[in-house]
Amino acid sequence: MREMIKTYTLHNYRNIPQILSLSEEMIKDIEVVGRVLPFKTNNYVVNELIDWDNVKTDPIFTLNFPRREMLDRKHYIAVEKLWKEDGGKEIMDKKIQQIRLSLNPNPAGQEHNVPFLGEIKLKGIQHKYPETILFFPSQGQTCHAYCTFCFRWPQFSGMNELKFAMKEADLMFKYLRLHKEVTDILFTGGDPMVMNASVLESYIRPLLKPEFNHIHSIRIGTKSLAYWPYRYLTDKDSDDIIRLFEMINDAGKNLSIQAHFSHPRELSTDAVKQAIYRIRSTKAQIRTQSPLLRNINDKPELWAQLWRKQVDLGCIPYYMFVARDTGSKRYFELPLEKCWQIFRKAYRQVSGICRTVRGPSMSAHAGKIQILGIQEIKGEKIFVLRFLQGRNPQWVDIPFFAEYDSKATWFDQLKPAFGEKKFFFEKQLTKLSASESLLFE
Ligand SMILES: *Cc1c(COP(=O)(O)O)cnc(C)c1O
Ligand code: SF4
Repeated sequence: MREMIKTYTLHNYRNIPQILSLSEEMIKDIEVVGRVLPFKTNNYVVNELIDWDNVKTDPIFTLNFPRREMLDRKHYIAVEKLWKEDGGKEIMDKKIQQIRLSLNPNPAGQEHNVPFLGEIKLKGIQHKYPETILFFPSQGQTCHAYCTFCFRWPQFSGMNELKFAMKEADLMFKYLRLHKEVTDILFTGGDPMVMNASVLESYIRPLLKPEFNHIHSIRIGTKSLAYWPYRYLTDKDSDDIIRLFEMINDAGKNLSIQAHFSHPRELSTDAVKQAIYRIRSTKAQIRTQSPLLRNINDKPELWAQLWRKQVDLGCIPYYMFVARDTGSKRYFELPLEKCWQIFRKAYRQVSGICRTVRGPSMSAHAGKIQILGIQEIKGEKIFVLRFLQGRNPQWVDIPFFAEYDSKATWFDQLKPAFGEKKFFFEKQLTKLSASESLLFE
């Protein structure tokens, strides 16, 4: 039977039958917070994932619906007041805009990663690490449902024309012809799997030609397996998607689905199991990743379960991320020490097969920085860190040290250990940032 997607946002979520079970207070919180942090969910999440009997603490509800604590108290009170007064759209919009801007909508210097093709700035591409480009197809800049911790929505756009896609793709192909060092292209968003099969194919098919022999892996970052597994089962073009995946493998390239799963429940339904099975039958690989989030998955047992279930289903655990410094981070963030403790306690419970996962990792301006642990050396307590990916690949895998800080939740709060003034890479990083535009010409 065909499952039809029904999408819910602030404008129509009251049509969800289960909403009747929420308290007045929770509804008000959705109305107030949902104006600042836009939310979107769907019938699969509502009917098959959320536990409505325990909605006060349910992690999937928290991932999909705004809660009061996601906004600063002062922001909450300001919006609540305007909402009650109903003083007009203009005043409300202005306030909302102001709050959003204060929430760091574009974290970690992403603007530094946008390359040039001659004079043209390639807005749909980020090229930070030599071997991999990120590609943001314009039709993939939305998602089946929004995660409340995510602040990618400044880039969520409404563009919907095949023609525009072709032009954009053309620039990407030109760029790739000039950059033979690139072996991986990672389609990302939003969620590229919201695109229909023919648009996705228009981006991918040209990459299978011999002139792109240097591209070995095509990766697709997606939350669709968790939030809309019917994408691979009963959507109008599900079969076309599956055929496209087969075609990539038949052309001798690796297809890796980078699937975002934050909680074991997302792996528990028949639909997700069938979808994973069907994708794997195309010989595509599925790698999994998620941020570590307070109130969602901040228990080692949950991660151990998550990795085991993934391996049971034939997926490869890949990254555990530290939540980014943006949006409602404060509600979801954990001290780095705690992140490491959770990782370590989960990692030691599982067999080597699950230990393909790496983390906790921070996507910082300089690169992906992993917390290797906490140690005491000659009386000084320190964080041991390393680059999993560096803006300069030379930095990768060299252990380095930061002063222990029990409260730090992100790399930029850390100071070098042992009285050093700068981390070993900082001088070069400043130089790199200054010359970046040159680098990519
Ligand atoms: C994570 C990331 C990649 C891919 O890194 P892998 O370690 O190869 O998965 C590429 N570009 C950017 C900007 C990234 O953040
Ligand atoms: S699916 Fe990914 S891009 Fe979309 S809202 Fe969630 S974290 Fe953000």
